[in-house]
Amino acid sequence: MAAGRAGFIYSRELEKYSYPPEHPFTTIRARRTREILNSMGLLSGNGRSEVAPVPAERIVLKKFHSARYLHALKTAAKGRWAAGALDMGIGTGDCPVFNGLYEYAVLATGGTLIAAKLILSGAADVAFNPSGGFHHAGPERASGFCYINDVALACIILAEQGKRVAYVDVDVHHGDGVAYAFYDRSDVMTISFHENPRMLFPGTGFEDEIGAGRGKGYCVNVPLPVGTYDQAYMKAFEAVALPLITAYNPDVIVFELGADGLAGDPLAHLHLTNNVYADIIKHLLSFDKPILATGGGGYDIDNTVKAWALAWSILCGENGGDLRDRAQAVSAQQHDTVLPAIEATIEAVKANIFPIHKL
Ligand SMILES: [Zn+2]
Repeated sequence: MAAGRAGFIYSRELEKYSYPPEHPFTTIRARRTREILNSMGLLSGNGRSEVAPVPAERIVLKKFHSARYLHALKTAAKGRWAAGALDMGIGTGDCPVFNGLYEYAVLATGGTLIAAKLILSGAADVAFNPSGGFHHAGPERASGFCYINDVALACIILAEQGKRVAYVDVDVHHGDGVAYAFYDRSDVMTISFHENPRMLFPGTGFEDEIGAGRGKGYCVNVPLPVGTYDQAYMKAFEAVALPLITAYNPDVIVFELGADGLAGDPLAHLHLTNNVYADIIKHLLSFDKPILATGGGGYDIDNTVKAWALAWSILCGENGGDLRDRAQAVSAQQHDTVLPAIEATIEAVKANIFPIHKL
């Protein structure tokens, strides 16, 4: 589907909102990604189009979030405090209350839901919402800069329509909100690659968290050591994700592309270049299934927008050109510490999960 129809989700309406200036999460990344792509002529022609998000409807939000939580979020954004708001993570350092918070969260989520609609209707084979990817939010919890879990909602809606969903999360942080949303279900397989939870928020996502009940074996966690570099990452991706996605045979792939695994990200400790994301997308395209991609983390802004522009280019069947990072040198010491840890992780995940899928 590499050369299929592709929808880039964006509108200037999103530019009206921003997190507080001292907060690491910036909403400007989507606009800057769009600017790069527009200047390269990659937003039109060959079946590509821009699609504006519309705010997600409350009835849809309630498929994942509680009414109590949505009420607290909405009223906090208007400067009033509902009972228990802080206990639900609203108004913390990570998830501050700011002007337009609710409108932004609902509009960004609406973008991911439009992407799901484009895929369900067959109007697009790939869709990318760089303003999405809020994978930490829980049913009744704001967490890790996330208020409304657009990716969990998209998976719910796709599953409701009878689709088997493979959710692939390469954000450097564990995709906990989505993993736990489907922990006991087999109609959405979640696969999260992330930095070792002993080193990084949210502190979950170990190899032995594999789902429960009917969902046992359908929650996959691949924790990666500090200093993980491109070749080591791809070794894990190819050894774990590819056989599992093949065995699962999804109807659609939801791909959370947080770019905070890139070398130099101020919040994390992996040493990736954006070539990893390009290689992963090529692998995902090879399954010949629709792909709903979102943004996510990514706190080195220049590197993040370049990675997302590259991702769109590859999703559209282009080669990325100048958007690719130069290969990073790997020191002998990095090699000697990272590789054995990755190999041990691969073996642990295989032992825990593969037999369930007859692999
Ligand atoms: Zn992240």
